[in-house]
Amino acid sequence: MESKQFDVVIVGGGIIGSSIAYYLAKENRKVAILEADKIGGKSTSAAAGMLGAHSEYKEFKHLYPFARSSQLLYKQLYEEIRELTAIDFEKRNGGLLKLVYSENEKKELESILSLSSVEWLDNKEARKRVPQLSKEVMGAAYLQEDVHITPLIACNSLSKGAQLFGAEIYEYTRVLAVSKTGMEYSIKTAQGTFLAKNVVIASGVWSNYFFQQLGLSHEIIPVKGECVAAINEGAPLRYAVFHDQFYIVPRNNNELIIGATKKWNDWSENPSLDGLEEVIQKAKKMIPEVGEMKWTRAWAGLRPQTYDGHPYIGEHPEMKGLYFATGHQRNGILLAPATGKMIRDLIIGTPVEKEWLDAFKVERNIFAYGGGK
Ligand SMILES: Cc1cc2nc3c(=O)[nH]c(=O)nc-3n(C[C@H](O)[C@H](O)[C@H](O)COP(=O)(O)OP(=O)(O)OC[C@H]3O[C@@H](n4cnc5c(N)ncnc54)[C@H](O)[C@@H]3O)c2cc1C
Repeated sequence: MESKQFDVVIVGGGIIGSSIAYYLAKENRKVAILEADKIGGKSTSAAAGMLGAHSEYKEFKHLYPFARSSQLLYKQLYEEIRELTAIDFEKRNGGLLKLVYSENEKKELESILSLSSVEWLDNKEARKRVPQLSKEVMGAAYLQEDVHITPLIACNSLSKGAQLFGAEIYEYTRVLAVSKTGMEYSIKTAQGTFLAKNVVIASGVWSNYFFQQLGLSHEIIPVKGECVAAINEGAPLRYAVFHDQFYIVPRNNNELIIGATKKWNDWSENPSLDGLEEVIQKAKKMIPEVGEMKWTRAWAGLRPQTYDGHPYIGEHPEMKGLYFATGHQRNGILLAPATGKMIRDLIIGTPVEKEWLDAFKVERNIFAYGGGK
């Protein structure tokens, strides 16, 4: 096969790679996604889809403004993508109740509760909004901006949108090696070699393979999350509910997504019975009647975790034109639009917020390439 030539080749077609492809293709860049499996088939399809800019962050420095900007981009993308692709990625506007069971827990929410978009609900008000809530719930922070979407549909609609702007999508095309020859990158797959001026590694937990191959000692750690889904045949749940990083998220078809465990450095993609038991127990503490619902499916996914909690979004310290966009941990769905936009700006040369450049740059790791290891 003759090598195909692109402005940008993206390695990995999860929500991060698909978002990058969308933003670049929209700017008329000739883009390809090379995906080892199916588009969105890995961590992305395991996600609950909460856009939790307020529920997820305690620090309001780099990550919160980045996450909030991404949350706002979704509002725009939702309409734009629906018009372009006729795909509705099921944005549900109810928002999220972050539950509190004690005064101490309420105290921990002080900084969130100080935000103007966040409302405190006492026990009575919380139960008025969600009558199914356990009587033990003392109250809740109502995060109305933390809406949720269906991640796999969002990912597919972004890659479809990219395709409509001219991007090429290659599924079941595993990248084996990336190397530089002259001014160009050569991307070797079992299906042939692709050539590109720029390469973006967006391979989730599997980005480790490329860090090593490209001379960096960075590591992404898998944090396995297990989930179960059940059909709610009772009154619909209008909001997602959340406590201690466990949650129940309602889908449009009355399915409830119940998750998720956090198993550090576990590479298995099958859910365990212990894991499922844990999420069901946590869910019953929030909504007791969950225990009586009929389960529909169970699954697990691997969150790409970095040591300092920030994703890597930036250029390789030595190889110009080679970028990483990985390590988005438990918030990759939320952070996908801002990441896509940031990589687009880096490649086309539009200014990016300095704070974000510094916070997410690849070489911030002192053990990175060279003598540190
Ligand atoms: C249980 C669970 C619940 C979650 N809930 C939420 C949530 O509510 N909100 C939120 O914001 N985030 C959530 N997340 C996190 C979110 O799913 C991830 O951060 C996000 O999906 C990461 O996207 P990604 O594109 O980097 O990775 P992935 O979706 O894993 O995509 C990487 C892709 O790269 C491909 N790939 C790997 N190696 C190669 C290769 N050599 N060649 C070609 N392709 C390759 C893989 O096949 C894969 O498709 C959750 C995660 C889990 C596990």
